[in-house]
Amino acid sequence: MNGKAPLRLFFAVWPEPKLAHRLASWANSAHRTTGGRLTRAESIHLTLAFLGEVPAPRVENAISAALRVPARTCIMQIDEACFWPHNRIVWAGPRETPAPLAELAADLKQQLEVEGFDLDARSFQAHITLIRKARATRQLPPLPALDWRVHEFVLVRSMKDREGARYEVLRRFAA
Ligand code: ATP
Ligand code: MG
Repeated sequence: MNGKAPLRLFFAVWPEPKLAHRLASWANSAHRTTGGRLTRAESIHLTLAFLGEVPAPRVENAISAALRVPARTCIMQIDEACFWPHNRIVWAGPRETPAPLAELAADLKQQLEVEGFDLDARSFQAHITLIRKARATRQLPPLPALDWRVHEFVLVRSMKDREGARYEVLRRFAA
């Protein structure tokens, strides 16, 4: 890695492999009607804050911000699946964002702003992107009951390869 090159960074919560595989398996069945590009099981995540391109020396500032975020665990029910026509993604997520997760995202944003990061002004919408470039569909298959126990969040580096984005977890934080 070139130490001077900027890094494309975001904070996210990452599912355990078992949950990721259950989501990937649901996405596989949805994909039969929507087509498009499936998210690899190991890449499935829920973004808390997107930083974009960050100069390498500023990574420490992102870490400092995250270390000031108070820990908050929660159990999140993934009970909604949707197709968004504006960006053609199929996603799954909680019908209602659990308060501790919304607070985690808000605290993180606030602490990142203290460190001088300029974040998206849009409000946090908890969603897990499972299919990109999907065709519009009126009906997605029913989601199985999925509970996600959130107990940590991660700082992730995003890199591109021929098949899309690849992610590398740089650091874990207790949620
Ligand atoms: P690709 O761009 O190759 O389709 P990707 O969107 O997963 O893949 P990135 O663009 O690096 O890869 O994004 C990393 C994460 O941050 C994803 O969850 C993405 O949805 C989210 N993200 C990207 N851009 C923004 C943005 N401007 N605002 C909020 N979240 C974003
Ligand atoms: Mg992207």
